[in-house]
Amino acid sequence: MRILSNTRIATRLSLAFGAVLATMGFMILFSLGQIENTTGSSQRLATASLNTVTLARDAQAAAQAGAVHLHELFMLPAQSQRIPVYTTIDAQARKREAAISALLAAEDAPHYRSQLDGVVYYRDRYVNAFDATVEAVELDVDVARAQMIAHTMPALEDMLAALDALVTAQSERATLKLLGINTLKAESRDAILSLGGVAVLLACLSALAITRSIARPLAQTEKLARDIAAGELGSMLPLAGKDEVGGLIRALDDMRHGIAARETRIADLAFKDSLTGLPNRTLFIDRLRQALEAARSSAHPLSLLVLDIDRFKTVNNVLGHPVGDRLLVQIAERLKSAGLRDSDLLARIAGDEFRLLLPTQDVDQAVDVARRLIGALHEPIELDGQAIDVSASVGIASFPAHGDSADVLMSRADLAMYVAKQGGDGFVCFDSMLERSTDQGLSLLSDLRRAVDRNELTLHFQPKMKLPERTCGSVEALVRWRHPTRGMIPPDQFIPFAEETGFIRNITCWVLESACATAAAWARDGRPLDINVNVSTRDLVSMDLPSVVAGVLARQGLNPALLCLEITESAIMGDPTLALASLSRLNEMGVRLSIDDFGTGYSSLAYLKKLPVQELKIDRSFVMNLDRDSGDAMIVRSTIELAHNFGLQVVAEGVENEHICQTLIRLGCDEAQGYHFGRPMPADDFDEWYRGSVTAAGPVQRIARR
Ligand code: C2E
Ligand code: MG
Ligand code: MG
Repeated sequence: MRILSNTRIATRLSLAFGAVLATMGFMILFSLGQIENTTGSSQRLATASLNTVTLARDAQAAAQAGAVHLHELFMLPAQSQRIPVYTTIDAQARKREAAISALLAAEDAPHYRSQLDGVVYYRDRYVNAFDATVEAVELDVDVARAQMIAHTMPALEDMLAALDALVTAQSERATLKLLGINTLKAESRDAILSLGGVAVLLACLSALAITRSIARPLAQTEKLARDIAAGELGSMLPLAGKDEVGGLIRALDDMRHGIAARETRIADLAFKDSLTGLPNRTLFIDRLRQALEAARSSAHPLSLLVLDIDRFKTVNNVLGHPVGDRLLVQIAERLKSAGLRDSDLLARIAGDEFRLLLPTQDVDQAVDVARRLIGALHEPIELDGQAIDVSASVGIASFPAHGDSADVLMSRADLAMYVAKQGGDGFVCFDSMLERSTDQGLSLLSDLRRAVDRNELTLHFQPKMKLPERTCGSVEALVRWRHPTRGMIPPDQFIPFAEETGFIRNITCWVLESACATAAAWARDGRPLDINVNVSTRDLVSMDLPSVVAGVLARQGLNPALLCLEITESAIMGDPTLALASLSRLNEMGVRLSIDDFGTGYSSLAYLKKLPVQELKIDRSFVMNLDRDSGDAMIVRSTIELAHNFGLQVVAEGVENEHICQTLIRLGCDEAQGYHFGRPMPADDFDEWYRGSVTAAGPVQRIARR
């Protein structure tokens, strides 16, 4: 079977059919030969028999005729009467001799040698007796008659008997030969039947072998293909020969390896952090949930560590993003080699934030691990010959002591890390005291994770007025937290912590979705106002903001030109390369971009100009003192002029009175935002305000769209 599967199917079929055809061809030729043989033998036998009998009978007839004419001589007294008879007797004698000579010369004469010798012997005696009788006739008829009776006639009878014996021997031989021919016929028939049987057997065996050699591997190949389709990539490979099916098996095997490699790659992309090769956030949360389930059923503890690198943003800013990346890789290596067990799961969640899952360890063991992690970063990290000091803050929360769900444990570990960072303590274990801390802001933060789910967030809208027309062209969406017990909480009290812990991503997604939904509703009502949404530093570096925005716009059916994202200077400076890439993609989508709180960071306008932004918002701290502080007035004036030179729209935040508004109009500021026009308002209040503003401004002036 192995040899068969190493031979191509086409060759196998050709060989099998060739063998069967050759056997049949040989059988046909053999049969024809045998028929030819038996027919030839029969014909020769028949001819020889006929010839011998005819000659023998001719000789007998001539001899008998000669004897009759001899008798005639006795009846003829005159010699003249006898002379013609002599002539006749001579003619008969020649006939007889010719027949006997022919018998002697016949092809099969050697077979009847003794009978022929008998014939010749008796013929000679007969001829002598006959001649003596003829001689006697001329002398004395009576003597001749006596001679005839005494010698010639017995000699004739002997000769006739010898000829009869010859005929008998010949017919016996013919019978024997006939028997031989019959035997030959039977043998030929048997041989032909055997050859036919061999041909049929050969055909059956070839058909069976070929069918098996094709059907079985094909069935195995079909199973392999089904296994691959079902995602079972480790199933046994059927034995692959060198034939066409073998080729198919090898191709399927290649396909299987290709699929496995791509699946691994997809899994890597989906579950691994591409920078450090560590598990990513998705995988970490999945494993945390699984580990919690296992811990609940087996009643063993579990600990969660959140580790955030101190002052990483500064390192990134000073040394640049590529160095920051390499530093993170080194940090990951240090953490990995801090004596972790195989079952522990270290993941990079975002930016400089790592998390560690200790599936079977309690608080004390987790504290040991935290010490080791912090210790692993004690030695400065060398990069390009430069020693960089790195430290980290770690927060610890354990199951069951500090919570029994993934969300609660993560939020408590985040809180502990936040406290560690504030206090510069290295690591802090969660304690319920933390939540009862005097810091009111901090005490609220552990609830933040559930705020989105409980629908506790809401948006307020603050108008941005066009100058000098004083019409509302756009609105800034500002988030508020409607805490069940503490009432409305301003963003300053929870956004910094949300940024610190990475939870800001969830808040940003929620704000984008609701703000765009509101703007889309306004547009449908014939009020196409721009909506400004604030975006954090972390949003730019830790998630694919352009994809998130594209998803929201598509879901809400909002024209991208109606959305403007406000980004602070520090967000851009934290990771300029990544920020530029994200901002460019957003810009290509048609989304407007604005630099928020301009003047509070250290970036130059010249640098910001390189970014694809359209708007610049001067921080309210400069605007509010515009009419009192000549320094601020100069900053605002030069910012407006420079921004205009760079083709940017300028918005002044924190406009609280008419005097400042007048100054801004004089300086050529494009838009103003502040309590003087309207405070941030809930949607219903804003609707009312807007209707009032339109009425006050006369005919609708929502003109000058881009
Ligand atoms: P911002 O983006 O610069 O927003 C403007 C802030 O100035 C708002 O404070 C607004 O109420 C306040 N403001 C407006 N006009 C005046 C005025 O005439 N005088 C004074 N004194 N203040 C005025 P708010 O709503 O408390 O927001 C504070 C900051 O929180 C925002 O500053 C923004 O950085 C952040 N924030 C607010 N909502 C969000 C959000 O949805 N996402 C993110 N990432 N950050 C947000
Ligand atoms: Mg803003
Ligand atoms: Mg601002």
